[in-house]
Amino acid sequence: MYNRKDYVSDSDWSRFLEFSKDLPTPNIVVNLNTIKKNFIRLQSSFPYAKIYYAIKANPGEPVLKMLAEKGSNFDIASRYELDLIKKFVDDPNRLSYGNTIKKAADIKYFYENGIRMFATDSKDDLKNIAENAPGSRVYVRILVENADTADWPLSRKFGCHPDMAYDLLVLAKQLGLNPWGISFHPGSQQRDIGAWNDAIAKAKYLFHSLEEEEGIRLQMIDMGGGFPASYVDPTNDLETYASEITRFLTEDFGDELPEIILEPGRSLVADSGILTSEVILCSRKNNTALTRWVYIDAGKFNGLIETLDECIKYALVTTKDGDKEGEVIIAGPTCDSMDVMYENTRYKLPITLKQGDRIYWLSTGAYTSTYASVAFNGFPPIKTYYM
Ligand SMILES: *Cc1c(COP(=O)(O)O)cnc(C)c1O
Repeated sequence: MYNRKDYVSDSDWSRFLEFSKDLPTPNIVVNLNTIKKNFIRLQSSFPYAKIYYAIKANPGEPVLKMLAEKGSNFDIASRYELDLIKKFVDDPNRLSYGNTIKKAADIKYFYENGIRMFATDSKDDLKNIAENAPGSRVYVRILVENADTADWPLSRKFGCHPDMAYDLLVLAKQLGLNPWGISFHPGSQQRDIGAWNDAIAKAKYLFHSLEEEEGIRLQMIDMGGGFPASYVDPTNDLETYASEITRFLTEDFGDELPEIILEPGRSLVADSGILTSEVILCSRKNNTALTRWVYIDAGKFNGLIETLDECIKYALVTTKDGDKEGEVIIAGPTCDSMDVMYENTRYKLPITLKQGDRIYWLSTGAYTSTYASVAFNGFPPIKTYYM
């Protein structure tokens, strides 16, 4: 159904097959070299930006170690991620606490560990920061509206209206904090580049009005993540994103570009991963049904949570590719009827597919390995291997 060569090169594919042939399924194999290449490509597409990798996308230690060695900074969402990244990064200036939802005690923990950069989007959180991380830089996350063109939106829950962001930055100064900048996240797997334009325009308005009316000179825009990985639905390439977004920035800020931060997750790591699953069973629900159910040993609870609402559509490769294909519903192994990956999206798979065959899920290096249940129905978390 999908051309594997559009996603993985011949040499990477044969290396992967050799590496994974005896591993128990389900499993995820991550190609660290792909992440390295993606990091370098992002750096050269946005030479003026600082990269803060969003750890949650793939917190595998080999991934963090390699990115730390390449000079990446890190966006952290919890004290547990902080403990993890401390193994690889000594300088707390390379870390930011980007979660707007946090306990006062955790703010204190970050402060004690030297972190001086905090995101916020509410008054109570800002007061907690002032109290537990005095003098720190704060940046306010604003709501962005174009989130319905993102395959995995991150709106509503995070961010505030720009008018409130204005008030929060004024309050930050009054509370002895350093009002540092504006952040937004255009939505993950954002396929409409225009989403950045709207958000940058709002940031520009805040920069301008805070300086004019309050004498507060902001320094930084954190543009979040949102850059695409290679799934079924087509996207522009990264270079197109970069040239458009750079144009939006220079239209709004001219030569006085503030410090620009990117927080990529998916776009750095997704294409590095291949999830291997085994077919447990193929069946039909009545004797003349045209659609088969294909049950596999990976599912929503162990690796494929982003198939929720069929948002992310992965390209699939099977060991029977080339044979005649028919419509399927693809489901996981647990006793929960929501453990169905694709039903409305009608995938076609070879009709010869049977128990024991393998289905490879391409571009599964992001939001898979740890975004999973611990042992629902007794199934252990999916294992990741690094090559
Ligand atoms: C998840 C997240 C990211 C990463 O987003 P991607 O779309 O995966 O690149 C970046 N910043 C913040 C604050 C996040 O929560």
